[in-house]
Amino acid sequence: MSHLVGKVIQENESLLKDICHKIWSNPELAFQETYSHDLLTASLKKFGFEVQKNYILPTAFRAEFCNRKDGPTIAILCEYDALPDIGHACGHNLIAEISLAAGIAVKTLMERDLSICGKVVVLGTPAEESGGGKIILIENGAFTDIDAALMAHPQLTNMLFPLILDLARVTVIYKIKDGLDPWENPNANDAAVACYNNISMIRGSFDRRWRVSGVIKRSTWEETEMNISYRAPTLGEILTIKKKLKACFESAAEITGCECEYNFEEDSQSVYRGMIANKKMAQVFAKHAETKGIVFQDDNPRICESAVSTDMGNVSHVVPSIQPEYSIGACAPHVNHTPGFATAAGSPAAQEPSLKIAECLALTVLDLMTNPELMIKVKSEFETNPNRAHAIPSRQAGE
Ligand SMILES: [Zn+2]
Repeated sequence: MSHLVGKVIQENESLLKDICHKIWSNPELAFQETYSHDLLTASLKKFGFEVQKNYILPTAFRAEFCNRKDGPTIAILCEYDALPDIGHACGHNLIAEISLAAGIAVKTLMERDLSICGKVVVLGTPAEESGGGKIILIENGAFTDIDAALMAHPQLTNMLFPLILDLARVTVIYKIKDGLDPWENPNANDAAVACYNNISMIRGSFDRRWRVSGVIKRSTWEETEMNISYRAPTLGEILTIKKKLKACFESAAEITGCECEYNFEEDSQSVYRGMIANKKMAQVFAKHAETKGIVFQDDNPRICESAVSTDMGNVSHVVPSIQPEYSIGACAPHVNHTPGFATAAGSPAAQEPSLKIAECLALTVLDLMTNPELMIKVKSEFETNPNRAHAIPSRQAGE
């Protein structure tokens, strides 16, 4: 099977490279990815997929192929949005390419061997960089018939279990109290600074995977506004940080005599969930990756854990999912979201590792389709994970 998958991808190499290059050369921002949408859907159609263009969102799509209804439905997720001013600095052109390559390979093998049963879905998910396209797709039922979802993301290193954190935001406003005696020198700046210092001091007690960052966005002596974002691996930890932040906000208000209002964003579109990587699926992916000489750096203490957030995290709370990261040869300081990474994502050197990863994705899908016991294990791991968003109380306003 491995040999055949490699052969199919190799046969289509120039077309895949061409699509990748075209997307890289025409970077489109979130929800505006019409060129990439049209390019990818046209290719999938040409390869015989049943394609729904403009699926739920104008620049989302769903392409599927089914040979027998008695197997699982596996989604390979595709991203293709870029960043303002710096283009494909997160390498989503490569994600589009590898997901297309994996989809084509799985379909070809399914056609050749009818014992491979199920449905492969290549799901075009726009607006990862801002707007959370996958969250909108989840809320509109795009994953209700999906048994598992997978994709891979270009990065500086190969990581099977990258640290993908739950992301939440809060706005804090301090105001001087009405009717306060001016001789008492009320000052909302003091409250914001006190709050900032409170947060800095409690960082010492944080788990090393927690992140809190904030800015004072506007500031007069009468009123200040702070924007704070915070991240942690699980929603439970997010709630713990939320409690600590509230104490920081309120104590700063108390000692300065200011009024304090805070607004934790509860809107689901602003909340990127931490990734729950399915270990069973990841092991299968790793098995294939290792045969291709890919070495994962998860246990290397010298690799600094980058902390990112993505709407793929939300998908992982809805269906068993993986999103390993892989190296395209870029080195620090040319990390994701820098012009240097955009150059790397468009370079010929990124092709070989990307197409290897596409093979591993395809082989993982094929294993899930041909091994019902594996699929049962993947699902039971997912269903019993206590960190899934629905498994713990949702965030309540003011909590
Ligand atoms: Zn990205």
